[in-house]
Amino acid sequence: MKSQNRKISLLARVACLWLTLGFSGFSQTPSHPNILFILSDDHAWQAVSAYGESRHLIQTPNIDRLAKEGMRFDRFLVNNSLCGPSRASFITGTYSHINGYYNLQNCRFDGSQPTYPQLLQKAGYQTAMIGKWHLETNPTGFDYWEMLLEQGIYYNPPMIRDGQKVKHTGYVTDIITDLSLDWLKRRDPNKPFMLMCWHKAPHRNWEPALRDLDFDHDRIYPLPDNLFDDYSGRGMAEHEQNMTIAKTMLLKVDNKVGFTLKELTPEQKKIWDAYYVPRNTAFLEKKLTGRALTEWKYNRYMHDYLACIKGVDDNVGRLLKYLDDTGLATNTIVIYSSDQGFFMGEHGWFDKRWIFQESARTPFLIRWPGVIKAGSVNQDLVANIDVAETFLQVAGAPIPNRMQGRSFLPLLKGNTPAGWRTAFYYHYYEYPASHKVRPHYGIITTNYTLVHFYKPEVQGKPLKAIAAIPNDYWELFDHQKDPAQMRSVFGEPTYAQVQTNLMQEVFRLRSELKEPPHDNPKSYGGDDRD
Ligand code: CA
Repeated sequence: MKSQNRKISLLARVACLWLTLGFSGFSQTPSHPNILFILSDDHAWQAVSAYGESRHLIQTPNIDRLAKEGMRFDRFLVNNSLCGPSRASFITGTYSHINGYYNLQNCRFDGSQPTYPQLLQKAGYQTAMIGKWHLETNPTGFDYWEMLLEQGIYYNPPMIRDGQKVKHTGYVTDIITDLSLDWLKRRDPNKPFMLMCWHKAPHRNWEPALRDLDFDHDRIYPLPDNLFDDYSGRGMAEHEQNMTIAKTMLLKVDNKVGFTLKELTPEQKKIWDAYYVPRNTAFLEKKLTGRALTEWKYNRYMHDYLACIKGVDDNVGRLLKYLDDTGLATNTIVIYSSDQGFFMGEHGWFDKRWIFQESARTPFLIRWPGVIKAGSVNQDLVANIDVAETFLQVAGAPIPNRMQGRSFLPLLKGNTPAGWRTAFYYHYYEYPASHKVRPHYGIITTNYTLVHFYKPEVQGKPLKAIAAIPNDYWELFDHQKDPAQMRSVFGEPTYAQVQTNLMQEVFRLRSELKEPPHDNPKSYGGDDRD
């Protein structure tokens, strides 16, 4: 009875909207659904409650709605686990060696290459990009865009609109959502839309909204089993990296280090200090060292990072409510994803970059009423490079040959086509800045990860840091026996056949994807900064 009432009330709302819009709001055909693509920055799938991670780090009821009412992808991967490169691959449907955006140190995105925003615009979509773009050049293919300056800041962020700097007051996640809602309200209702609401949060420096500072009531978070990983059973790369909570993460206790507090107004700073100062003082008095200090830093990291997620989740709720209230929800594809995954203390790490499961895998939840069965789960190997082709197929727009992914539209309908990929190719370049993770490529399959930490070929003027990399080596991880990826089994006799097959597959994919035999040294970042 209740559900019948809800149906009647929904019908009444739709009818009311029909009259309000003078029928114009229903001129779209089902083949031209609207697209709302919400992308956050560095949001670990472990910190989306729909994924059910064992630590139960946070509840994200609004993001979870997309899984309940749509589909959750459990093996959604990125080709290069770094902000700008992954974003370039999302919009172009290509790998870094094709789109030219390898790293954050010396790359600028060439906006003249084909992207789904441009092609959707040509196909009659109204397009907008609001929030963090982070590709160094101005967005192309949008009827409207307003972007943060580079990484952006959390409080009172300046943005660029039509080439002009605009100052905003408030919290960045709220502002990006406000601007997205404003655009939705003033868009042309006669055309389908594609809106990219791309957040800065929860990228460091992990500054929560003032209203969320005490959101976890000083919770002590469960530790990951491998917080104190000693990297035995693995090679030089894991030993050499510079991204541990213990050694690399800055202490954020004096309200100066690691926080851009200069951006706060005096009123904001008062509330900020009222939360942090007593906690910092108590910490300093304890004079923690060793494991106890690392555990304290882990808890501070969890608090700040997850409080930023709370802000994102609340704002996803605001957008979903708008779609509900206006009746747009029925003909709008809504996606929540992140530009890559993130380490939440696993292996002792924060940050991303690696082919490993915490960073190469990212959350991806999608709702499309009438097409995707509510509450469905997909376990296929799907990736950021597939998004452009999917959007174009949904819109009935042509797909350029240079795109290297595959539309996952059939998967959304519950059918995985024969011949869907069984191995996904990955390639990370940036080195040594930041975090000193060695360049590597490899493949991820359902059961294994194979990775090659290679010695880059230095052409022309040698880069000191690259030239200093010792000889190459491989690692192989068995997901069934070692889900946390703690021990490489490469070279073990039991895995000889698996190893041969996977190595053949990685070289086959390198050839198919047109990987050059030697990377351009500039692809690594071009300097020796640490
Ligand atoms: Ca990122």
